[in-house]
Amino acid sequence: MIQLVRGFKDILPGEIELWQYIEDVMRGICEDFGFSQIRTPILERTELFSRGIGATTDIVEKEMYTFADLKNASLSMRPEATASVVRAYIEHKMYARNPVQKLYSMGPMFRRERPQKGRYRQFYQINAEVFGLHSPKIDAELILILMTLMDKLSFSDIILNVNSLGCEKCRPAFKEKLQTYLNERIETLCPDCRRRSAINPLRVFDCKVSSCQESLEGAPTIVDLLCEECQNHFSAVLDFLDRFQIPYQLNPRLVRGLDYYTRTAFEVLASRLGAQNAVAGGGRYDGLVKALGGPAQPGVGFAIGLDRLASLLSDRAPGFVKRPNVFIAALGSRAQDRAFVWLQTLRFEGIRTEMDVEDRSLKSQMRQADKSGASYVLIVGERELEEGVAVWRDMSTKEQKTVPLEEVVTFVKKNVAGSASD
Ligand code: ATP
Ligand code: MG
Repeated sequence: MIQLVRGFKDILPGEIELWQYIEDVMRGICEDFGFSQIRTPILERTELFSRGIGATTDIVEKEMYTFADLKNASLSMRPEATASVVRAYIEHKMYARNPVQKLYSMGPMFRRERPQKGRYRQFYQINAEVFGLHSPKIDAELILILMTLMDKLSFSDIILNVNSLGCEKCRPAFKEKLQTYLNERIETLCPDCRRRSAINPLRVFDCKVSSCQESLEGAPTIVDLLCEECQNHFSAVLDFLDRFQIPYQLNPRLVRGLDYYTRTAFEVLASRLGAQNAVAGGGRYDGLVKALGGPAQPGVGFAIGLDRLASLLSDRAPGFVKRPNVFIAALGSRAQDRAFVWLQTLRFEGIRTEMDVEDRSLKSQMRQADKSGASYVLIVGERELEEGVAVWRDMSTKEQKTVPLEEVVTFVKKNVAGSASD
């Protein structure tokens, strides 16, 4: 038997309905907030990610699926969405029509991480990006969208963490101060962080090694060193969160995994998930569009991890499986043929209908009807055909009625009308 690649998974019927539900809810919210969908390819030039995410981030250094295409172009499976969406914004000159673009997307991402609970090598994200707006209102709006989704999915035990990472004006001074701090305790850091502290000291905050986290106790925090503009921007974001009654925790250690973030950074955590507890993260990336060769337009966005969201809701999955409205139990070839035409007609009428086309015994067909969870069963056999009727059985009340054959379709439509659209 050929098996799945490690870290990859199938999403089967029974589970997928929950995923579709989450996607539908999110699509609805995004469109209510004025976002349009964008779909970018899974494969991009490696350079897009090394420049867009940062050459010294974990993702680019060790997690990408990269290979040489013919003619030796280096291609990578996308590890995240923002770089691709920015590329599309620039490549299609979307900014020329309107610098303000609000875009969302959904799809698989690929990272060659160690597979474990809540961590896969192909996982799914829902992303939202806004270009062309500096206003803190937009940072707050994105967080509101995220929290609206959590609310619609009835999550309660989640925490929103927020921080500001400053800008190119105030971050260098912070970086330097942090570097000095780290250098003083360099021997307490893991080998990765020793390297990081020299080239990209902010990355140390993201290290999962506990001794590194301990060494960071007392480290300088960026919020204390923000320039006036960044300070005002951050206060305004927090002020809107208060007005929207969104609870949050200030987390001066939150830096996020990508290099390009500026100012607002946020993360949504769910304690029920255990070690891999981040369900969503995002922030502002004002320098990215320019860094990738576009105009100096600001950006802000978020990514939601669908796998972790779905696992939090997995006990509700059976509730999203669609059951047939009607199961037709037809016995004998004449009844089977007649029923097969009803089956298709009713489906065209929007009534979810199933039947057993193999003409098994009545007992077997009733068992199938029961198992399918159908609300009604329409029974028709040789005797019914002789009498010119079919039997209509309500599976919840067990009541039965006879229906003249030529009225079957109208009768079913009338009786199932309420449930046909759910
Ligand atoms: P983590 O700290 O868990 O590694 P991250 O900061 O790398 O997360 P982001 O790049 O911010 O994650 O991606 C946004 C979301 O995508 C995360 O909050 C998480 O829910 C999800 N995610 C990231 N990596 C994986 C993965 N390997 N498997 C499943 N979901 C993931
Ligand atoms: Mg990660």
